[in-house]
Amino acid sequence: MVTPKRKSTRAKKKKASPAKKKAAAGGGTKEGRKARVRMYRHGVGDCHLVTLGADFHILIDCGLLQSTGKAAEAKLGEALDDIFEETGGRIDVLVATHEHWDHLSGFLQHEAKIDRLTVGEVWMAWTEDPTDTLAKKLAGEREETVEGLKLAAEKIEAHAEALHGVDKVEQQSLAHGVKQVLSFLAAEPSQRMTTRAMLEKVRSLAPDAPRYCRPTDPPWTSKRVPGVRIYTLGPPQDERAIKRLMVKDEVYHAADAVMAGAFRARLEGQTDVDDTLDRLEPFEAEHRRDLEQLRELAKDPETDEPLANLLRENYFGVDPWRSIDQLWLEDAQEFALKLDNATNNTSLVLAIELGDRGRVLLFAADAQVGSWLTWQDLAWTVDGKVVKGTDLLARTVFYKVGHHGSHNATLKAKGLEQMTSDELVAFIPVDEQMAKSKRWNGMPLPGLVSALNKQTRNRVARSDQPLPANVTWAKEDSKGRYFEFEVR
Ligand SMILES: [Zn+2]
Repeated sequence: MVTPKRKSTRAKKKKASPAKKKAAAGGGTKEGRKARVRMYRHGVGDCHLVTLGADFHILIDCGLLQSTGKAAEAKLGEALDDIFEETGGRIDVLVATHEHWDHLSGFLQHEAKIDRLTVGEVWMAWTEDPTDTLAKKLAGEREETVEGLKLAAEKIEAHAEALHGVDKVEQQSLAHGVKQVLSFLAAEPSQRMTTRAMLEKVRSLAPDAPRYCRPTDPPWTSKRVPGVRIYTLGPPQDERAIKRLMVKDEVYHAADAVMAGAFRARLEGQTDVDDTLDRLEPFEAEHRRDLEQLRELAKDPETDEPLANLLRENYFGVDPWRSIDQLWLEDAQEFALKLDNATNNTSLVLAIELGDRGRVLLFAADAQVGSWLTWQDLAWTVDGKVVKGTDLLARTVFYKVGHHGSHNATLKAKGLEQMTSDELVAFIPVDEQMAKSKRWNGMPLPGLVSALNKQTRNRVARSDQPLPANVTWAKEDSKGRYFEFEVR
């Protein structure tokens, strides 16, 4: 419906002369294609090679979920071999969407293969820009929270030591849960394989300074791919939007400096928290006592017998889990997960427009609700005409499904349902089995998969499953390394 029959006059000139060499790539030369996408099938993680025209190569992410085993890691290596072969080792634009293992690990896991590549430009989200004030604030909060969570994990473990039976197991499993999430967020600096180090590796591949992409940027163009425009949809330059993760108006505030500070202060046993933090305390200051002081009081032979008994029974008795102090710890796991999710909203989201008012390839990375909602209001003026975020959705023919098909990463009414092109296909990089083994059920979410099937008329490619029989809209590599989509 929105698919253009009408073509831009500028782009058409190039296309009309088939003898034109690869400089006319945007109009398409190699077998007449405009663009091709390869989605690699290595597991839970993104690695996509987008080729514009004959030979303008964009690599978007190269990662695999942490600790998913050697076999998947080797498959990612095979993907990189294919990328090398296909590009002749030249990547024109290398994109790192956000700081998560499943988008970046390959840059270090297969560093030798990466180092064989020549990179033209590196693109990252503005949230990685070391000179950006809001980016710095967000990074600071994240660090603060990670430190708080490390303390929480230690406290929970220490607490579990004093317990027995079911209580002990429960607390140990809580500590394990927090640690597991922490391992995604930030490994020890001494470790080589950190998401930070992966991101720095990508940064180091830029011959010049990386481009930090912002939705306010005019669409990117290049003489090498005439007619192609690349729009930045996310991350939003708005703190509130970045922190919004859930559909039901549930705004994520957990990593606010205040909250993170309060959390950490509590864990460090500080009692002289300032006014702002004080408001987050469950009780008024006059009703609060320092736990260590009470412990001393309970042991002190001078203490009145009834008071000592009360303290021993209620605070330091057989059931230490009753201590209200631990309520903070119970939240730790959820807190950690939220922080991890907040990073998804720093995803660089790109819409690649093939020709004026042309078809669009949408790479949503792992953007969550807060980012999606802001696309509704985006608009750029291009050659005197306005292009809206919603226009780009309407012209999307290839949708790289957000966050491996999980909930809150593909909006319905203000997202998928606006992708009304009758050519629409959806590609999901996922491994359901692996996700389940990590106790991530709903990756992909069955409800979302059926919505995608409906919207695309059953043109959904899942990297963990073979393509449906007799498909014409996608191709499969004979070695099973990737699925391919082409726009002609
Ligand atoms: Zn991801």
